[in-house]
Amino acid sequence: MSSHPLFIGGEWIAGSTQRSNINPSDIEDVVGAYDDAAASHVALAVDAARAALPAWSRSTPQQRFDVLDFIGSELLARKEELGSLLAREEGKILPEAIGEVSRAGYVFKFFAGEALRIGGQAIASVRAGIEVITAREAVGVVGLITPWNFPIAIPAWKTAPALACGNCVILKPAELTPGCAWALAEIISRSGLPQGVFSLLTGAGEVGSALVEHPGVSAISFTGSIGVGTQIAQRCAASMKKFQLEMGGKNPLVVLDDADLPVAVDAIVNGSFYSTGQRCTASSRILATEGIYPKLVDALVQRTRALRVGHALDASSQIGPVVDARQLAKDLDYMQIAKDEGGRILCGGERVSAARPGYYFSPALIANDDPQARLNREEVFGPVATIMRVSDYAQAIALANDSSLGLSAGICTSSLKYATQFRRDIQAGMVMVNAPTAGVDYHVPFGGIKGSSYGPREQGGLAMEFYTRVKTHYVAS
Ligand code: ADP
Repeated sequence: MSSHPLFIGGEWIAGSTQRSNINPSDIEDVVGAYDDAAASHVALAVDAARAALPAWSRSTPQQRFDVLDFIGSELLARKEELGSLLAREEGKILPEAIGEVSRAGYVFKFFAGEALRIGGQAIASVRAGIEVITAREAVGVVGLITPWNFPIAIPAWKTAPALACGNCVILKPAELTPGCAWALAEIISRSGLPQGVFSLLTGAGEVGSALVEHPGVSAISFTGSIGVGTQIAQRCAASMKKFQLEMGGKNPLVVLDDADLPVAVDAIVNGSFYSTGQRCTASSRILATEGIYPKLVDALVQRTRALRVGHALDASSQIGPVVDARQLAKDLDYMQIAKDEGGRILCGGERVSAARPGYYFSPALIANDDPQARLNREEVFGPVATIMRVSDYAQAIALANDSSLGLSAGICTSSLKYATQFRRDIQAGMVMVNAPTAGVDYHVPFGGIKGSSYGPREQGGLAMEFYTRVKTHYVAS
């Protein structure tokens, strides 16, 4: 089995222990052994980053452009090979995995351009003979802590803007899917980036925790669970670190009577079940008005039952396995909860066997009109959606907003009036009309409101808000 050391200060360094990266489509297939960092490696990476910071934070936009453009080009050139690694370690089907690698490549290309566009403002002073200029500077050493569900796109959309703004980066990817982050680090190691500017520390939550605690780290960008995110917020606040959090979603998709049925069915099947429902933007609450409810349920059940669940690398699979045994157990637990609280499982919700031993689970649709039901409130993070019957738009929007989370939301309707009202009324960071709640562009802001996100938006031009700080210059003449 090939070994995968840590990348610190421009060198590949053995970790303290190793862990096996297991293919969820076939648990007998070990993707590789990946090293776990210890606290001493965190200290080494921070020292290397702090040593590299003065020069990198003053590097020219051209230097940054060249590095980011190189990384983006290589990701795009190797999208099939890296997509297959991604599918193998995470369980997303191959076309989705290749799409994710492309996205990562384009993210680097986008931020290569952004490196050239970092600027400030010249503002007229209220005093004679004074010039006022605002300028953006790097924040310092940033710790990036990422989850398993987008193992290359999320490391990319944090690393690229961080480097574009002149920060030094320590990336701590999810322990379940270190392979893509390691491949990204390997590309970065050949990109011309000075030593120490980027380090990769694979390992479990303790490594992330040590980064959050380290006084040499100036900012933390985290994507993951609400529990860990909340803890990180408290600890960053205590040490005055800048922080940014992307956490859960319980994303509503409203379907009104006047919706185009096939459009609504496509949006739901895609948004709820593609990528095995393991997306924080997945549509997990369908709210349908009474007139369309029966035919929508029929059509959805038919489409969902027909989805082929199987090995992520099998060309006939439409839905891959869930990521690991813990997630499978969680999905199955929620099916029991659904039954216990009076929900009707309309289809799916069962463990599925396949040619190879893996964590296969059939996409589940559950009917329960009680907005207080746990299935209508808690994020499952699997291919599980609930459907609730509502009387009209007013009830739909009230229930859609009745959540502590607010990442993404959608409406299917042919009414301009309701589409417009919904875009205005919905409490979410992203809103979709006649489209799935998941599946977003790589060059525009991403993020939520309420308990879903904290801090400046990620991706697009606004990503610079987090990765820079502003200095106001006064010059008298
Ligand atoms: P999930 O339950 O989806 O795995 P987590 O929030 O546990 O989500 O994990 C997201 C990322 O946060 C992973 O890289 C994980 O290792 C890291 N992590 C877990 N616990 C901590 C912690 N206490 N401090 C910092 N990072 C952590």
